[in-house]
Amino acid sequence: MAKRSRQAPSLPSDDNSDFSQDSDGDPDFGNISQPATQSLLQDTRVRKPRSAAVASTAKRRAADAEDDESDGETTVKNKKARRNTIIGKLEDLDFEVEKSEVSASVTKTRKSGKALEVESVSAKTTKSIAKAPEKSGKDTPKRKRKTKEEKAAEKMPLADRALKCAFKIGAHVSSAAGVENSVTNADRIGANAFALFLKSQRKWESPPYKPANVTAFKKFTKTKNYDSRKHMLPHGSYLVNLAQKDTEKAAKAYTSFIDDLKRAESLDIGLFNFHPGSTLGEPRDEAIERIANALNKAHKETSFVRTVLETMAGQGNVIGCKFEDLRDIIALVEDKSRVGVCIDTCHSFSAGYDLRSPETYRAVMKEFDEVIGFKYLSALHLNDSKAPFNSHRDLHQNIGLGFLGLSAFRNVMNTKEFHDLPMVLETPLEDDDVSVWAKEIKLLESLVGLEADDPKFLALEKEYADKGAAERKEVLDKLEKREAEKGEKEAKKKERAEKKAAKEKLKDEKARKKPPKKATGTKRGKASKGASDSDSSELSELETESDSDASSCGGKH
Ligand SMILES: [Zn+2]
Ligand SMILES: [Zn+2]
Repeated sequence: MAKRSRQAPSLPSDDNSDFSQDSDGDPDFGNISQPATQSLLQDTRVRKPRSAAVASTAKRRAADAEDDESDGETTVKNKKARRNTIIGKLEDLDFEVEKSEVSASVTKTRKSGKALEVESVSAKTTKSIAKAPEKSGKDTPKRKRKTKEEKAAEKMPLADRALKCAFKIGAHVSSAAGVENSVTNADRIGANAFALFLKSQRKWESPPYKPANVTAFKKFTKTKNYDSRKHMLPHGSYLVNLAQKDTEKAAKAYTSFIDDLKRAESLDIGLFNFHPGSTLGEPRDEAIERIANALNKAHKETSFVRTVLETMAGQGNVIGCKFEDLRDIIALVEDKSRVGVCIDTCHSFSAGYDLRSPETYRAVMKEFDEVIGFKYLSALHLNDSKAPFNSHRDLHQNIGLGFLGLSAFRNVMNTKEFHDLPMVLETPLEDDDVSVWAKEIKLLESLVGLEADDPKFLALEKEYADKGAAERKEVLDKLEKREAEKGEKEAKKKERAEKKAAKEKLKDEKARKKPPKKATGTKRGKASKGASDSDSSELSELETESDSDASSCGGKH
């Protein structure tokens, strides 16, 4: 995990303040690319200390245990399952959960005669507390338990929903302590669409939903007036790579993937967004075929959820940084009504698709339509980019502050083809303060109908560009420094190779000099041969460079 420290201005009417988030680091290509920012965003989202939520979950589980037990049919197996559910929740939710809060559930459950079972939970929880500093960093301060007032404030609506807006904008909200909470979390920030994780995306297996969670999810969906088939966009696990060649690993990835799709259908969710995958160095066409095969199989095992391929930033073996990758996957999908595409503005910009000016934006959209087709466009992720154009780096930034700037989002918010599609923010938050998203949603909605030369828009664009200027400069300086270091390294490498070649030539020369009488003639021959060798060594260096360029994704756009 990359280090945390970055300053960014917040959104309008707020003071500038520090916010911590993943600011750097390349994706880890263990099994699949995991965008550093995304990953950390998720970490902050999921690891957010929600002592109250944890305690109430534990209490609820304990109460469930009590109900189950009263039937007198509890087996060791479901005891274990319940315990694991609680532990799983605790691990997912909070690395800093306080022991005392879990004790509350212990006391309660003891009264109902479940001391044995709950004691084991308590022990596990303590273990997870003990692990916390290791995972979250030595200097991480322990967070205080929230007061009643703070808890109440967390439930207060932050913005009204613009129900009449043709664009359905929202954010990737937390579903901690119950998948149904995602609905209320979305409603609270004024989101008309939203994304969520259907299970922990850091683990391969999660316990199934309880019927009560599913019922609550559907009830909230109805009361809060969301269209779950159209405007909810779950995000797949970062662990899953459907392009995986290794049979065992591929089976593991598929199992997790199909589990997610079935979860989506159990909640009546119509879309499921995921990262296409990584070739892991294998031939691209074969990797693409493996993805399509997995999708075909998954479509047969489910009935309606549409699998949505996300556009990627393009790092090494990542599939999806070019529209052509997605086109090629779709071409191999048998049931075209079950496959779609999600444009991530940050990823695509970073992959070389320039969305900034109205002209370049139009060209990109035209290219999208020609290569993939708007009929496949199912969703958008709205993120500004901390990394410059065509940098192939996946670093999300708040709207208007990054290298995309507000102009790109004005373009997006005036594209009729996006009407009624879920448009989801995955922008960084300071201290999990979701009011940032509430403001960003309103900001984006305010761009609808604004012309590029509208003085109101130009003033707004400048205001945001100015706020993000320092951070953009910092990133550029860093990249420049990195490039310089890379250049220096390469120069040294070249120098070493040349020295080595010269040394070897000298050795050759000495060997040939052995018959002492022929020494003079050989010298001349050697000098000219030396020059040509050095040329060829330079050539081979260049070849190596161009090879590595070819293997990385894109650079063309
Ligand atoms: Zn994603
Ligand atoms: Zn995304």
